[in-house]
Amino acid sequence: MEKIIKTEDEWKKILTPEQFKIMRQKETEPAFTCGVKKAGNGTYYCAACGLPLFNSQTKFESGTGWPSYFEPISPENIEERRDDSFGMSRTEVICARCGSHLGHVFNDGPKPTHKRYCINSIALKFKPDKSDAKK
Ligand code: FE
Repeated sequence: MEKIIKTEDEWKKILTPEQFKIMRQKETEPAFTCGVKKAGNGTYYCAACGLPLFNSQTKFESGTGWPSYFEPISPENIEERRDDSFGMSRTEVICARCGSHLGHVFNDGPKPTHKRYCINSIALKFKPDKSDAKK
């Protein structure tokens, strides 16, 4: 996949201040930022570069307050990296195309993958399926 490489100054112009803090500086949004409302069927894209990352069919209610998915749209669209910050051993999830921080993945998810991709809602842009979109 061709990478999108921008300076942090360029990202600052593209992203909102909240998105910049999370996606470029790896902060975590407060739990329940996105609310618990079901968005319907559709696709979740990287808010920075528009790469499709997750499908609503893989979304589940984890009770954590962050949107959670049991698998990405394609393993090529996300990159996983070891993250030992804050005295924890975690696996960071980043967008494979633009390198933006998305969240973390844990091994306590539901079947069939038992993975829990715990993603900052602000790092995702949702587009409903055409059949679900209302004019
Ligand atoms: Fe991206």
